[in-house]
Amino acid sequence: MKKNRNTPIGMGKREFRKSGYQLIDQIAHFIDSIREQPVTTGESPGALQQILGNELLPEEGSPANEILSRAASLLFNHSLYNGHPKFFGYITSSPAPIGALGDLLAATVNPNAGANILSPMATEIEKQTIKWLASMIGYSTPCGGILVSGGNMANFTAFLAARTAKGPKTIKEEGIANDSQKMLVYCSTTTHTWIDKAAVLFGLGTRSIRWIGTAGDQKMNNQLLEQTIMEDLEKGYHPLMVIGTAGDVSTGVVDDLEGIAMICKKYDLWFHIDGAYGIPAAVVPELQPLFSGIEQADSIALDPHKWLYAPLEAGCTLVKDPNHLTATFSSHPVYYNFSHDEEPETLNFYEYGFQNSRGFRALKVWLSLQQAGRKGYIEMIREDIQLAGLLYKLARKHHELEAVTNHLSITTFRFVPAGSSERKNREAYLNKLNEALLNELQKGGELFLSNAVVNGKYCLRACIVNFRTSKKDIEEVIDIVVRNGHRVSETLLKEKSS
Ligand SMILES: *Cc1c(COP(=O)(O)O)cnc(C)c1O
Repeated sequence: MKKNRNTPIGMGKREFRKSGYQLIDQIAHFIDSIREQPVTTGESPGALQQILGNELLPEEGSPANEILSRAASLLFNHSLYNGHPKFFGYITSSPAPIGALGDLLAATVNPNAGANILSPMATEIEKQTIKWLASMIGYSTPCGGILVSGGNMANFTAFLAARTAKGPKTIKEEGIANDSQKMLVYCSTTTHTWIDKAAVLFGLGTRSIRWIGTAGDQKMNNQLLEQTIMEDLEKGYHPLMVIGTAGDVSTGVVDDLEGIAMICKKYDLWFHIDGAYGIPAAVVPELQPLFSGIEQADSIALDPHKWLYAPLEAGCTLVKDPNHLTATFSSHPVYYNFSHDEEPETLNFYEYGFQNSRGFRALKVWLSLQQAGRKGYIEMIREDIQLAGLLYKLARKHHELEAVTNHLSITTFRFVPAGSSERKNREAYLNKLNEALLNELQKGGELFLSNAVVNGKYCLRACIVNFRTSKKDIEEVIDIVVRNGHRVSETLLKEKSS
């Protein structure tokens, strides 16, 4: 062997600079011209496979700059861009460019943020990020938390902390099979599907979910919630937790959190808030009353990769008393030499959650919190909400659109062509028409919406978590939807008559 190793995967300074500058130039151009691209190319998987080719695993290596350049061109020309100013689908934000640079830096240093000793500064930055996130939403308790990959994982982490805290005392040793009283969790019918997954994965089963109906305002009916809890207690069941939603995924409604907090206190239940989408809006002063009660939550899930514009992936669990996380996730194998340091500040994040080795996902969040500051976030979130309000207003004014809901930055509406009021089976026809319209719009590349079903109406849904969207973009949404709506309704009519 040579004295100095020269490996095919290492990169000298010259080569790194050459490949790196070339890539950064391409990225800068991409960001600058994203508005001129279609939101998506709408190519089929088959077409994409042809473009990608099906070469076997290469036997020989290739120069870094060449493969990076090809990767950039494949991605820049054949992707769906959620950074496009007219991307409003599901809840995926435009990614903050500083987050992309942060990920590059994080990957370069590559701290393993599972153990303090392996990630000294990264662990401190993650702790600070968690404090800042809590402060941003007004969760002003000396809480702790952990960054995870997204909202589902953030909710799972909290769900398990609640199960340890409120479940049978022997749950860690005996598992849940030994529980003679059935454990139950309570949430509204608008709750995101993570709860089904959690009930299946963590042994409670889906029958342990008590789905509480909503009142006319789409918020969880807290009276019904309390009544259900009382009945379950009488039957000898074991209520564990209530999940309040701060911004439901379909229409953005925030539950009456204060009311839920009171019920949880009364019956000694864990109060969890799923704020994956909406809770960052609590930073906006005039919206704070909508979120009152969050300071009483035992845990909160939020999702920096949604309304804080972090690139995927970044979710966060906040827990009022982080000892519940350690009680749930910590164990000490003999080969771990991480805890000899008895300094009280020492925190090993592997003891707080699912992961063992962990990437440094806090960095991109920490950077963007500083780049924009609290004021910057207030302004961006407020404007996203105003734009959703504008879309609602324009839809209401348009004679062929029906504005259906508008909460936080989510607006639902539908296309109602002239003359459709005389049709038989009007509602069924409109549902079919709007579904066909959505499918066309999603492939067309002019904009990207998703759908919501509101009181039986199939609606188009725009969720604006997009710092690139302007007033002009919203005005254009109206024209695009109506123009495509006419085309799709003509096609449907032709299909019917042929
Ligand atoms: C998006 C969302 C989730 C799931 O979050 P992921 O980041 O997609 O895992 C959970 N709950 C709510 C309310 C959401 O909006």
